Amino acid sequence: MDRDLSRPAERSRMDTTDAFVGLECVDCGERFDADRATHRCPECDGILDPSYDYDAVELTREDLRERPFDSMWRYEELLPFSRETAVSMDEGATPLVECPTLAAELGVEAVYIKDEGRNPTGTFKDRGQSPAVTAAVQHGATDVALASAGNAGQAASAYAGRADLDSHVFLPSRSGFTNKAMVNVHGGDMTVVGGRITDAGEAYADAMDEHEDWYSVKTFVTPYRHEGKKTMYWEVAEQLAFEAPDHVVYPTGGGVGLVGMHKAAREFRDLDLVDGETAFHAAQAEGCAPIAKAFDEGKARHDAWEVPDTICGGIEIPDPGASHLVLDAVRDSGGRAVATSDDEILDAAVTVAQEEGLEMAPACAAAASGAWALAEQDAFDDDDTVVIVNTGTGNKEADVLRSHLMGKGI
Ligand SMILES: *Cc1c(COP(=O)(O)O)cnc(C)c1O
Ligand SMILES: [Zn+2]
Repeated sequence: MDRDLSRPAERSRMDTTDAFVGLECVDCGERFDADRATHRCPECDGILDPSYDYDAVELTREDLRERPFDSMWRYEELLPFSRETAVSMDEGATPLVECPTLAAELGVEAVYIKDEGRNPTGTFKDRGQSPAVTAAVQHGATDVALASAGNAGQAASAYAGRADLDSHVFLPSRSGFTNKAMVNVHGGDMTVVGGRITDAGEAYADAMDEHEDWYSVKTFVTPYRHEGKKTMYWEVAEQLAFEAPDHVVYPTGGGVGLVGMHKAAREFRDLDLVDGETAFHAAQAEGCAPIAKAFDEGKARHDAWEVPDTICGGIEIPDPGASHLVLDAVRDSGGRAVATSDDEILDAAVTVAQEEGLEMAPACAAAASGAWALAEQDAFDDDDTVVIVNTGTGNKEADVLRSHLMGKGI
């Protein structure tokens, strides 16, 4: 364990759950106390992952059945923080909507869309910012900061506002209008950087160097964002009566949600809270598909994508720092990685809206067109259950969807 434990006076300032034992580096395996290690691995700068003493977790299907389905924090036993201490707006607990027309088209038993658009700020990013901002509060931060393609920045400014922290959000100029507007509305300090996510990331890194007291809530820099995303899988499992879906198709940028859900599947399986196994599939856009390319080439890590160019801002991540974890999760679960064109993705968003009523933002619709591509590759059997994750609501980028119709003369 952490050598800093030799300083007992500084221990246990955080208020964590019983089974949470600390953070483990996924790269060097070293373990750290969560009071002392706040972000990346102090030894090797690797990604830290919350770890638990599963023998100390007492949670049964019956317990879960009896709980109201009202927030991601209903799984607090398997999260670092309790529901009571969490900075929360009752995020999560989103519907799993059956889509019979899509099931017929994909030639499978059932298709469901996990509709993360019903979250407080309209995307699943809320599930990451809730625990990340909770950790910031517990570590005594006054300011949180991140670079984001847009939705995470909006979510961070919302949760920071709720926790009475200042937020500093670095967005690329291509972020959507709603994201920029709402960071302002939540009182965040916003810097719009010309260019793309990498440029916003550089401006953020410079600012972090200047402001030592800013606390990062950036992806895989804080250990808590991927941890919060676990709850998506647990909800799906419960919504399917504790039967694992055969497939989850996930619109993948950094892959935070996919890595989180893969961990969640292992935890629920080990605790006998779910039957069956799930293949996790990464869906990307052809204009920025470093993970799909690495998957096809059999590589353990991606090569940075030279010229990213897709209309799917949320998944336009040319240099995803955790690609080895994403590729591991995909391969370990028997999943695949696919990439489809912007045109196919926007068509998929329109098809889902017209046939099933659900509103998917462009980045999210990569999961829908990815599901079609997987069906064409015969990745699904006719008795399979497929879950498509709609990571965010269509009305964040209704203008982009409408313009797509305009391009077709409609
Ligand atoms: C951030 C984001 C993604 C990609 O999430 P990762 O888990 O980092 O791959 C997908 N869709 C939307 C709407 C997003 O905001
Ligand atoms: Zn390490």
